[in-house]
Amino acid sequence: MSIQYKSIAELKKMLNNNEISNAELIKETFSLVKSNAEINAFITLNDEESINKANKLDDCPSSGSLAGIPIAQKDLFCTKDLKTTCGSNMLSNFIPPYSATVVKNLENAGCISIGKTNMDEFAMGSSNETSFYGKVQNPWGKNLVPGGSSGGAAAAVAAGIVPAASGTDTGGSIRQPASLCGVTGIKPTYGRISRWGMIAFASSLDQAGPIARTAEDCATLLNEMCSHDEKDTTSLNEDIPDFTENLNSPINGLKIGIVKEFDLSKLDNEVVKVFEESKKHYESLGAEFIEISLPNISLSVPTYYVVAPAECSSNLSRFDGVKFGKRCESPKNLEELYIKTRSEGFGDEVKRRILIGSYVLSAGFYDAYYKKAQQVRRLIKNDFDSAFKSVDIIMSPTTRGPAFEVGSKGDDPIQMYLEDLFTIPANLAGLPAMSIPNGIIDNKPIGLQLIGNFLDESRLLQAAHNFQISTDWHLKTPRGIKS
Ligand code: GLN
Repeated sequence: MSIQYKSIAELKKMLNNNEISNAELIKETFSLVKSNAEINAFITLNDEESINKANKLDDCPSSGSLAGIPIAQKDLFCTKDLKTTCGSNMLSNFIPPYSATVVKNLENAGCISIGKTNMDEFAMGSSNETSFYGKVQNPWGKNLVPGGSSGGAAAAVAAGIVPAASGTDTGGSIRQPASLCGVTGIKPTYGRISRWGMIAFASSLDQAGPIARTAEDCATLLNEMCSHDEKDTTSLNEDIPDFTENLNSPINGLKIGIVKEFDLSKLDNEVVKVFEESKKHYESLGAEFIEISLPNISLSVPTYYVVAPAECSSNLSRFDGVKFGKRCESPKNLEELYIKTRSEGFGDEVKRRILIGSYVLSAGFYDAYYKKAQQVRRLIKNDFDSAFKSVDIIMSPTTRGPAFEVGSKGDDPIQMYLEDLFTIPANLAGLPAMSIPNGIIDNKPIGLQLIGNFLDESRLLQAAHNFQISTDWHLKTPRGIKS
């Protein structure tokens, strides 16, 4: 029986019923990676170690909740003794001496990290076109972008190569590619998952999370990924519930907020139609819709594009040719070492962000840009706090439309930045948010975004699971993928 497109829950059953051995599962996974190499979802494969681990599991079964399950790790998580590039030339030779906490958590639960997925350079992008290791193909169409920055992760799941992948979401990088590739992804509350060993982009926004086929699998993964970690000072020390516990509880009476300020009339009719149909479906499940106002929400994208570049310019100053990764050839002096290494090591989008960040943090402009952005960020958070007094979750489309063509937004960074119009607010407010497939337009999938209150991932997952057990959008698969 093929393992392609199987969920974690299904693979666990196959393993438990001895329909497949651990070694067979991993070998088949690598054969899917190879037959679909043109998708370019992976930067580095971890084949030898994965097969050894699977053989060991066959000899000596483990009781870990995810024992033997193949997982692809975004190439932004440090993996001990396995190259970690963050999609950049700068780290093309970087082999970390330790693994990120979240990688360790997953591996302790028995997951096998089969390789590192392609991504936008340093997680900056919405189309996976900025990777030093080449573009990723959306499995739904050769000329379509998979979204970004976790494009390789979403594509690997959408092509049915792996049941799940780790991703990170600073402004939408789990939800936007999940939407464009027709898979499910969740960014939990900021601080739920340790950032230790995650290569930093914008530390006050970065949050890891899973991309999988179903909300149920996302819940299973979150159970293992979340932990309090003393090595990350922003890690939350809060109870971690069993995220699978309430999945099947009905959602009648659930109050869903619709944001007045998200002007859907500017979107294509088809996109609006898909959204309205999902609303009707939720109504049939007993949910109730309430219009809410987030008065400062239109300032989210400009606020993000001050805060994120500011933090990135500071975080990326460590890549100087001395401490990590690449070093230029024969510099004349220390200054030239810095300049040449950084000029050669970073791509255009990363340089653009560093320049913007340095500018908004500079003494003359700090108050006008950075400080102002932080103040607006607080107003946006306050807007959400008042909205959640009257609703349980908030719903919107995840993206403005389905996947766009490769190269179609390349010349205009602003158009690319607007891709994250609906996803950025949850990062600014630190709230959990997810995307689930809810329609297909011209043979391209699209997603529905659910935003939850602080620490309320369980309710999001419950709402998503209720949708998925009564619809089949998450079960649709792209045509033409090799088996
Ligand atoms: N697309 C956004 C950006 O380029 C968000 C990226 C992310 O979430 N990592 O900044």
